[in-house]
Amino acid sequence: MINSNTFSNFNSKYPIYADLHTHSISSGHGSEDTITDMIRCASESGLSLFGISDHGPATSSSAKPSYFQSLKLADRDRFGIRVLYGAELNIINTAGDVDLDDDTLSTLDYAIISIHPPIFKPYHDKDLSSAYIRAMDHPKVRFLGHIDDARFPVDFEYLLEIAKEKHVYPEINNGSLMPDAYRINGQENCRRILSICKKLDLPVLLSSDSHGKKSIGNMQYIFPLLEELDFPAHLVLNSDLSALSDIIR
Ligand SMILES: [Zn+2]
Ligand SMILES: [Zn+2]
Repeated sequence: MINSNTFSNFNSKYPIYADLHTHSISSGHGSEDTITDMIRCASESGLSLFGISDHGPATSSSAKPSYFQSLKLADRDRFGIRVLYGAELNIINTAGDVDLDDDTLSTLDYAIISIHPPIFKPYHDKDLSSAYIRAMDHPKVRFLGHIDDARFPVDFEYLLEIAKEKHVYPEINNGSLMPDAYRINGQENCRRILSICKKLDLPVLLSSDSHGKKSIGNMQYIFPLLEELDFPAHLVLNSDLSALSDIIR
């Protein structure tokens, strides 16, 4: 059953039934909230599908591989909503290596691949599309995390064409668009990503990137961009649970 969404930023054209990029206390920073706290909050917020994607082990103070391995035993149906357990992997080098092994990844529901300073080495400004493309081949990789960050430039057109072929989907990250965002050029680059996705007919995932429960489901800075670009509602995965289920399967 799809609940009516209770966020103050509810948008009738782009209803948000799912949020798959969130971090619990196991990410080691920015959250004191447990998985249980977060699922309860997601349920109370009106989401129907909720995903925990803690940072991979290369992130300072994040959980060990054994934490991610244990998630296969976790209940997928809690507080009346469907729960998925994934990871926000760190791409650690230009070869597209990530910070969980493929056997562990295979036990998760999905993975997001992201580049974060200071983990990615070398930290430079050359085109990193090939690092993402290689990382897409690891098991359960379904989403590209905040590729808008100009500190790690990519060729959007090229990367998104390959992503479409590989059935991997870009996210639009609310955190990149906040007025105090620490990523660079979020507004301009998210606009470009959305324009290309519209042209390619490539669906996108909207993400709160909530650290803890405080921002679960919050896409408030994304909606103005979607409206400005008249972005097709049918390409927003958060509004289409059956499309999301097909992708995660
Ligand atoms: Zn990230
Ligand atoms: Zn994140």
